[in-house]
Amino acid sequence: MSSTIQALPTEVVYLITAGEVIDSLASVVRELVENSLDAGATRIVVSVWPQQWRVRVADNGCGMDLDDLQKAAATHSTSKIYSCADLWKITSLGFRGEALHSLTNLADLEILSRPAGGDLGWRVVYGEAGKASQVEIAAIAPGTVVTVSNLFANCAARRQGLPTVAQQMKAVQAAIQQIALCHPHVTWQVWQNGREWFTICPSTTIKQLLPQFLPQVKEADLQEVKLKLSNPPNSELKTENSALTLVVGLPDRCHRHRPDWVRVAINGRMVKSPELEQTILVAFHKTLPRDRYPICFLHLAICPDHINWNRNPAKTEIYLNEVNYWQEQINQAIDQALRINSANLKEAVHTTRVSKLIKAAEAKSGYNFNPKNTDEGDNTQHSLKAVAQVSNTYMVVEHPEGVWLVEQHIAHERVLYEQLCDNWQLIPVEPAIILYQLSPAQVSQLQRIGLDIEPFGEQLWAVRNVPAMLQQRDDCADAILELSLGGDLQAAQVAVACRSAIRNGTPMNLQQMQKLLDDWQRTRNPRTCPHGRPIYLSLEESALARFFRRNWVIGKSHGI
Ligand code: ADP
Ligand code: MG
Repeated sequence: MSSTIQALPTEVVYLITAGEVIDSLASVVRELVENSLDAGATRIVVSVWPQQWRVRVADNGCGMDLDDLQKAAATHSTSKIYSCADLWKITSLGFRGEALHSLTNLADLEILSRPAGGDLGWRVVYGEAGKASQVEIAAIAPGTVVTVSNLFANCAARRQGLPTVAQQMKAVQAAIQQIALCHPHVTWQVWQNGREWFTICPSTTIKQLLPQFLPQVKEADLQEVKLKLSNPPNSELKTENSALTLVVGLPDRCHRHRPDWVRVAINGRMVKSPELEQTILVAFHKTLPRDRYPICFLHLAICPDHINWNRNPAKTEIYLNEVNYWQEQINQAIDQALRINSANLKEAVHTTRVSKLIKAAEAKSGYNFNPKNTDEGDNTQHSLKAVAQVSNTYMVVEHPEGVWLVEQHIAHERVLYEQLCDNWQLIPVEPAIILYQLSPAQVSQLQRIGLDIEPFGEQLWAVRNVPAMLQQRDDCADAILELSLGGDLQAAQVAVACRSAIRNGTPMNLQQMQKLLDDWQRTRNPRTCPHGRPIYLSLEESALARFFRRNWVIGKSHGI
């Protein structure tokens, strides 16, 4: 980013939503670290002294020369946009040129900075209207140190309106974590009252970064999908492509009791996007236990002309054009993350030994994974092999990476449930099924899920069509009765799948098991049943090797 700060022309100022963005310690931290990120920093040290109402952010970014430093806090002064047209091409986190200026009204502001190639650093203290009031040479490494002190000293009401120090610090931590997730390559060091509080180590993937914030979640519990996307069909700018990064907690391994980790970021900033959050929640429907929510972080890198950041001044809410297009892409990405396919199997490989095994397996079966390929099930089928049944309940499954135990009933339930969702078919039955003593609520429930039901005499009702899957069953009437007891169509589909799925305790031969495995592997959400129970237990080859101490020297001497 070239750093020549200019005052924005008045017409641009009018277009930018006016509004106070500095309302808490966390918002000061957010504005300052966004400036550091815009300056290309890879190392950011944040220090907060909440009792002193002081925040300092030091970075190794591009810095400012003296000229820019003197203009930095003037009203609507920014190096990031110059004209109205630029508002549609925003690639930086800041652009209003207001944060530093507001800070000079609300606090004492001091900046030390030295440009990347410069041999001198400067210290500037800002006074009235953001004008430089003190300027002197400062010994500083290339980069910038911004110190904000006595925040809200001149407006006691602001301070009183804020929650306890502990809560404010929680907000500071959350703000840093959120922005860190959007910029995983940055090293963060955070201090509180002069003591180191927490650090965030840089990572090449978000999957590696996230466990630093959710200590109970391990990297292996997460799946990351990166997609390059073309722009939406109506986009005018055809040149730049978009990218989507999605990290999900695998539903059989982790979930939350609140939807607090359904997060959406766009172009480097966490945003509120109810439309996209809803898409994510719906995609996880019937994969998690009741009242549990997924862990999901979505980062879209989109051509800036699709975004209007001016929904609110803190830039946390946006208007997104072509929202349907993005929702579709998100669904595809989640689908890809949750499926069990050769790509995911490969991802989980840790040891060279396992890699070798897989290479050998690949050479034999010659599969060639392509997520767009609708035959992908055929590519992956061969990688799961039924080898035995245990307790008439579990299928023992071998694959290039280890051994799985798959519970037959719920695996089948998942298969049937997805079939029912894709094709909820009601077919006529002759003679009608006669039910006895239904309440009006039960009758309307059956009508709601599409059944054709009418009175058939005193306390009797005739049901003239039933879900196709139930038709041949002896307990069809019981099943209908169960459906009458409530729930929406999806609940009915779950109930039908559960009733129709092969019972535990039923012997299966290898062929039957293989067929079930192949069907199960093709499902969209193979990890959990519609009630959210895990379907398989995996004994990864890497874990087995560790358990059997295969890395011991003694093993080598035995030629293992
Ligand atoms: P904005 O970020 O919207 O441009 P700010 O008031 O936050 O407005 O910052 C004003 C200008 O000061 C920025 O445009 C940038 O040129 C400069 N600046 C602020 N912080 C830094 C920093 N940490 N490193 C380099 N330049 C900075
Ligand atoms: Mg800024």
